[in-house]
Amino acid sequence: MAVSDHVDLDQFMAGVKKRNPGQTEFIQAVQEVAQDIYEFIDDKVRYHEAQILRRIAEPDRVVSFRVCWEDDNHNIRVQRGWRVQNNNAIGPYKGGIRFHPSVNESVLKFLAFEQTFKNSLTSLPMGGGKGGSNFNPKGKSDSEVMRFCQSFMTELYRHIGPEIDVPAGDIGVGGREIGYMFGQYKRITNRWEGVLTGKALEYGGSQMRPEATGYGAVYFLRNMLKHSGQDIEGKSAVISGSGNVATHAAEKIVQLGGKVLTLSDSGGFIYDPDGIDQEKIDWVKHHKTHTRGRISEYADHFPNASFHEGARPWQVKADLALPCATQNELNEEEAKALVDNGCIAVSEGANMPTTLDGVKVFHDAKIMYGPGKAANAGGVAVSGLEMSQNAERISWNQERLGDMLTELMDGIHEKCVEYGSEGSKGGGAYVDYVKGANIAGFKKVADAML
Ligand code: GLU
Repeated sequence: MAVSDHVDLDQFMAGVKKRNPGQTEFIQAVQEVAQDIYEFIDDKVRYHEAQILRRIAEPDRVVSFRVCWEDDNHNIRVQRGWRVQNNNAIGPYKGGIRFHPSVNESVLKFLAFEQTFKNSLTSLPMGGGKGGSNFNPKGKSDSEVMRFCQSFMTELYRHIGPEIDVPAGDIGVGGREIGYMFGQYKRITNRWEGVLTGKALEYGGSQMRPEATGYGAVYFLRNMLKHSGQDIEGKSAVISGSGNVATHAAEKIVQLGGKVLTLSDSGGFIYDPDGIDQEKIDWVKHHKTHTRGRISEYADHFPNASFHEGARPWQVKADLALPCATQNELNEEEAKALVDNGCIAVSEGANMPTTLDGVKVFHDAKIMYGPGKAANAGGVAVSGLEMSQNAERISWNQERLGDMLTELMDGIHEKCVEYGSEGSKGGGAYVDYVKGANIAGFKKVADAML
């Protein structure tokens, strides 16, 4: 193939748009990676010759299937399920399952694409995938969720396996859903094997897996701050979300001496000027997972707190911001508000929570900005360790896993610094963590493909 066939970034993106009509989230994710990768691969002929980026930006496989289940009123409900297997150059496909009304093929393709780079950054041998359904577990009974999960797995089981594709949880899929799906897999195949991660401890789950994403995002934040001679102690933080990632991020901020001011869900956010301490975090955890309640009820329990219906927390003044809810939850205007209010660092617990315009604001303001694919990689990293423990039929203790998580997050931060430092150009110590994560994540996968 002639190298002259190689197209520039605009032509490349025009092709992506043409091949994926209307898939805005997927196009956004590819654009964000491609703009860094193009600069990096410009003089590297072999990547162009082998069309590596073009191939990574085209999922290996998109499996789409019907899921029928019966609700408590004996109505038959029909929904769609997907598994996107993006790339398995460096290991079996790996990534969560999301149950949320916003799920469609574009969302899952963007998540599987992001996952490929994230998993590569962890340094563990895992390829990238993602799955899910537009099923909404909110307001459903346990039996309804069970029947949906069983039906979903009845189709999915033929596409996964410990050496093929290992799903886990994501939005709307926690310990309960993983348990129902694992039970169904075992029932159909008559095999106990590490086919899912995020399992409960009793049947092969790993210590530290529930904490890993949120704690990891705070370790990444701590590393960014340390790199510029600062730390978390005494700093205030705004956090969005109130699920597994947000509550564990809040917990770690509090443990490290920071003050958490907000949490949120799709109904609005709560602001607590007294700080959301461990006792309050425990209340939120219990309220969300056991009673499956809303964050608005926090304000009834803790008197100085206020609930802001339909709003997001980014106008609240704080030193640190951790978006831990969902994609595109922080836009350009909100990014400006954070910067204007003196925010110095952002660490993303969610996947692609900041819009491209929002990222540009952080970049132009030169504040520390840790993108999700680096900052929230602790979750999938501990999933990788769960796979190792299952394969070896052993279980490591909490202390050992805690140390391993810290080391893995240190390694990811180092890689971002290695490929994202712009210090030599500008004279300062500025690190473009987006560029660092994109290039480091890409390079390993690309070299494996070559
Ligand atoms: N859903 C999580 C993520 O976005 C975890 C995936 C996993 O553990 O496989 O990385």
